[in-house]
Amino acid sequence: MTKIIDGKEISKIIRSEQKVKVELLKKNTGITPGLAVVLVGEDPASQAYVRSKRRACKNMGILSRDYNFPPSITELELLKLISELNADAEIHGILVQLPLPKHINENMVLLSISPDKDVDGFHPQSLGKLVIGMETFFSCTPFGIIKLLEYSDIDIEGKHVCIVGRSNIVGKPMANLLLRKDKTGNATVTICHSKTKDISFHTKQADIVIAAIGKPEFITAEMIKEDAIVIDVGINRVENSEAERGYILVGDVDFKEVSKKTSFITPVPGGVGPMTITMLMYNTILSATRYSERKRLGK
Ligand code: NDP
Repeated sequence: MTKIIDGKEISKIIRSEQKVKVELLKKNTGITPGLAVVLVGEDPASQAYVRSKRRACKNMGILSRDYNFPPSITELELLKLISELNADAEIHGILVQLPLPKHINENMVLLSISPDKDVDGFHPQSLGKLVIGMETFFSCTPFGIIKLLEYSDIDIEGKHVCIVGRSNIVGKPMANLLLRKDKTGNATVTICHSKTKDISFHTKQADIVIAAIGKPEFITAEMIKEDAIVIDVGINRVENSEAERGYILVGDVDFKEVSKKTSFITPVPGGVGPMTITMLMYNTILSATRYSERKRLGK
């Protein structure tokens, strides 16, 4: 029978482990990890994410500072704020909620964040370091997936993993995390995308399939081999008149049919989703720990 990987439960375990680290860091160094969250505009989904981040920080003893701006803010004003946050000793992580309004160059903003405070792992320097195996920050969603596998006692080493999706925030960092020369890497990786011919051919051979496409129930039972492990990153709103909000959340995997064949599978919601914010907290604490170490060494 398939085992459901419970992202909420694993998230809870990691958060309580990390909370201990926060307490120790405060006690031993007097440093409280600090996260600055920058939100431009009034997109309800972004506002909801920011609220969850604030709640998570509060629960874990992390200082959280919110910067909310109307969509009319200029790129220069935003760059100035980031430059101030880069120099702010109380802040160890800077997160700019995407997307930004069209008149602001997203890449310029992401590039302006100090790589030492890039807790989202989106800075080219962070991604480059990941590719060549240097210490860095790993993007939160792919890092969360590695943790889901690790805490479910699933060996990654030597497995064939097929990722469907090659975005900069999920598919590409995921592939590079799985390729690391590490116990939680060392996989053989195939990446599929919208131009891949016969996706099924690739997914059917994989021990682990990771779906990050953004298309409801794209991965069907026929595309998966018996006893495969399936990780569903997708979050899709599908209209449903019976649901209170008029829609339900559906993943990129046909959970009902696929789960009949798998050995492990993540649900949507409650699988990968809860891990993203948890890994953001994890990276912020890691950043504060690295900062305290640099301070101790006078660097
Ligand atoms: P993007 O839209 O940036 O990327 C989607 C990827 O899927 C692209 O590489 C695209 O290929 C590929 N794709 C699209 N259509 C097909 C197709 N028909 N066949 C094969 N490949 C296809 O999405 P994201 O990576 O940002 O997100 C993917 C999903 O994960 C979304 O549902 C998103 O909401 C969810 N998500 C969930 C998170 C969480 O915390 N749980 C965090 C981030 C995302 P190509 O490159 O060729 O266009």
